[in-house]
Amino acid sequence: TNFDEADLEPLLLENIKLAGYTVPTPVQKSSISFGRAGRDMMACAQTGSGKTGGFLFPILNESFRNGPAAAPAGDGRGHYRSRAARPIALILSPTRELASQINDEARKFCYRSWVRPCVVYGGADIGMQLREVERGCDLLVATPGRLVDLIERGRVSLSCIRYLVLDEADRMLDMGFEPQIRRIVEKEDMPGVEGRQTLMFSATFPRDIQMLARDFLKDYIFLSV
Ligand code: AMP
Repeated sequence: TNFDEADLEPLLLENIKLAGYTVPTPVQKSSISFGRAGRDMMACAQTGSGKTGGFLFPILNESFRNGPAAAPAGDGRGHYRSRAARPIALILSPTRELASQINDEARKFCYRSWVRPCVVYGGADIGMQLREVERGCDLLVATPGRLVDLIERGRVSLSCIRYLVLDEADRMLDMGFEPQIRRIVEKEDMPGVEGRQTLMFSATFPRDIQMLARDFLKDYIFLSV
């Protein structure tokens, strides 16, 4: 089967074809259908499995379908006073390299759509990232430490998040990011597990990842590819 048969939004299908993809990988095929059903997902997938599309496609397919009406500007309160960006999708990633790669992919698939992707990571000038985020940020790719910083500065609000992705969760834990991840996901303005769709990706599924899945996901589908 190819992408034509996946019943995707026309603009997403067009952008996927522009990227040169014709056939969805197994993780992409599953995640598109589970994404449509609104199910949470824990996927054991390696780099090379197409896991980036595995979370971008379901998120963008639903976002393109729903349109910007469901998004930030309508939150009404503090709209003029607060300069905080209110992304609808958050992707947490362990490293600057992986975060930039995800953002590059997202830009291709968001081409000519209302969804504007942004990336923030540590070890780089924060001023430029702040200005980018301020220009509009619907889908935010972030490393955990830098995101905590932006939240504390009041420049990013999690109140409109509908999709949360933890990519390479095992690597994030190996790098010691668990406290930052918990601060982000358990923050009071982040919609609770019932108010968002959560997708977790990890190469391995040891006990500490099982605990995260238990805490962050609801009634989830377990996928091993
Ligand atoms: P990932 O596992 O997401 O890091 O993807 C690995 C590589 O496969 C990247 O270079 C992607 O651009 C490419 N890729 C992902 N999905 C597809 C697909 N459905 N068809 C062709 N190439 C793909």
